[in-house]
Amino acid sequence: MTRKVVIATKNKGKIAEIKSIFNIPSLEFLTLEDFPSIELPPEAGKTFADNALAKARHVALKTGLIALADDSGLEVDALGGRPGVFSARYAGENAADRDNYIKLLSELEGVEDRRARFRCAVALSDPKDGDKTFEGVFEGVISKGPKGVGGFGYDPVFFVPDKNKTVAELTPEEKNSISHRAKALMKLKEWLEKKGK
Ligand code: IMP
Repeated sequence: MTRKVVIATKNKGKIAEIKSIFNIPSLEFLTLEDFPSIELPPEAGKTFADNALAKARHVALKTGLIALADDSGLEVDALGGRPGVFSARYAGENAADRDNYIKLLSELEGVEDRRARFRCAVALSDPKDGDKTFEGVFEGVISKGPKGVGGFGYDPVFFVPDKNKTVAELTPEEKNSISHRAKALMKLKEWLEKKGK
């Protein structure tokens, strides 16, 4: 028997990534494009897990189906973990990706400790079986200037020492094999497989 799972996002990049990691034959994926009247709640939580859970619960409640949501962002050690849950709106409510990383680079001007990590929480909400969240982290350092054209968000300024490249210089396959989102989704996938779902 296949089970329907609604991916609680309108972001096409995330949908593609989630579907490619979750190649579990017993799951049939729907997205918010199949439920155009559903609006996601504002990201008002203090943690990524709070926000992912709020989105998954909301969509599970509205559809009566299992819902999967994610929330992610960048934590910079020298900034005490900022921008964190405010990563998308760091330079203002409708800030472009470039505005956000330019602001970050200016805040870190002259700062030696440039350690940072992307963090992602994924949440699954099952109307019949409760909720579960998993997290993944991706460690790196903030570069002195942008490099590369791939990815999105802070990728051009997030340098991965192991690869000697910024994330924007990695191929999508390379990024998807080591990213915070891929790690969180893999944990969820293993949990689902163990449960026999
Ligand atoms: P959200 O999970 O869609 O709310 O994303 C939050 C924000 O975190 C994004 O707009 C980006 O600024 C940043 N972010 C999350 N994941 C990544 C990533 O993989 N690369 C670059 N930036 C990211």
